[in-house]
Amino acid sequence: MPPRDRSVIRLPSYEQVKSDPVLYAHASRVLHLETNPGNARALVQAHGEGATARDVWINPPPIPLTTAEMDYVFDLPYARSPHPAYADENGSHDHGTKIPAWEMIRFSINIMRGCFGGCTFCSITEHEGRIIQSRSEESIIKEIEDIRDKVKGFTGTISDLGGPTANMYRLGCKTPEIEAACRKPSCVYPGICQNLTTNHDPLIKIYRRGRALKGVKKILIGSGMRYDLAIKSPEYVKELVTHHVGGYLKIAPEHTESGPLTKMMKPGIGNYDKFKQMFDKFTLEAGKKQFLIPYFIAAHPGTSDADMMNLAIWLKKHGFRADQVQTFYPSPMASATAMYHSGRNPLRKIHRTVESDDENVDVVRGEKRRRLHKAFLRYHDPNNWPLLREALKAMGRADLIGNGKHHLIPTYQPVTGGCYESARKKNSTFLTIPSMVTEKTKPAAAARTPSAAKPRPGTVLTQHTGLPPRETGAKRVPGKPVRKGR
Ligand code: SF4
Repeated sequence: MPPRDRSVIRLPSYEQVKSDPVLYAHASRVLHLETNPGNARALVQAHGEGATARDVWINPPPIPLTTAEMDYVFDLPYARSPHPAYADENGSHDHGTKIPAWEMIRFSINIMRGCFGGCTFCSITEHEGRIIQSRSEESIIKEIEDIRDKVKGFTGTISDLGGPTANMYRLGCKTPEIEAACRKPSCVYPGICQNLTTNHDPLIKIYRRGRALKGVKKILIGSGMRYDLAIKSPEYVKELVTHHVGGYLKIAPEHTESGPLTKMMKPGIGNYDKFKQMFDKFTLEAGKKQFLIPYFIAAHPGTSDADMMNLAIWLKKHGFRADQVQTFYPSPMASATAMYHSGRNPLRKIHRTVESDDENVDVVRGEKRRRLHKAFLRYHDPNNWPLLREALKAMGRADLIGNGKHHLIPTYQPVTGGCYESARKKNSTFLTIPSMVTEKTKPAAAARTPSAAKPRPGTVLTQHTGLPPRETGAKRVPGKPVRKGR
């Protein structure tokens, strides 16, 4: 009888976890150790006391779908359209009823589910499983043809053939027996597991077949790329770079420094350098002009101010000026959330007091420090220079302030009005920092703040779709904010 059928694990109770960050970190560690459907056990947690006390039973992750089952699900006759309630009077989702999230997926195809990366700030493994579940080539090709033939507005470009990770299609452990016994939280951290197959040939075949279809002019790859896996297949990188990049390829090293990278369970920046070399070589060979856009996270647990400074120096050295940056935000179920909440590292054992085999984590809290970390990522934005000058002096790195090429930020301060306009995106959000707007700069700041983009007072827009909440028939309680639609 497999272990999952013989035993359960009792987590600390909800009340304990709620009031004790160390127990929260412990519970999070246990949950993440029980993510392999081959050996995970059920988790049980007590909730409430007295007459309302009950146990919540959390089933182990389901056995992954086979390719035939995946095809069954994906081949169902979907409408490939948003709910008609959101359409205009002509049934259209264009112009005023355009939904940004729909535009993004309208011509994109999901070829697989799951991720074995285990990045700690992400909870895809908890949502979709750590074992990759792939559709068949036939099913994917049929969906490309369906989009071509049935989706209004198709101009010949498929915007993505992907999934949680673009290049994990059909990758996995070399045998089902080894896979079922494995307790590792990632197949690619701290390095690529020797039991992992990294053959990209099935994916290359789909790309080639897809772009040869009549009526298909271009297939782009918009999903995130695991570049540490991609460099194992130079043929794949060549295929991707030659045919499937739309000018920019976004990849996510997330950081350059080993402190935060070890807390994120991400590969070292050396892999990025190797991928970039290949990317540049094949781009040149294809006679194209295209660029790699690396993404980074500011203020992730385990990131020191010096780590962010070193990242900024790396960015400057490589000529990057990040437009869109993200500051870490704790999200449900992620291990990094447990670090953020508890200050402990759930990737290692958790004891009541820190012992040799567990670890405290430097958590970036408070508006000032989070702003500083983000400012390092956007060292090129003059609005951040006063904050960065102050921080660099306090860190004993005033040598980075000056007007030479080797300096990070200059000594002079231009008049900016507290706004920043992205070099690439004319419609990027403008930020007006009240403390930085003076009487002199007010007109410039006002002129650059798009008042039309401001929602009307009392309107709550959903984060992902930009749509007003759906009418649910629920009674509005005066003074209470309207709940977001789903
Ligand atoms: S043995 Fe390696 S490849 Fe197999 S599941 Fe475990 S970590 Fe992944």
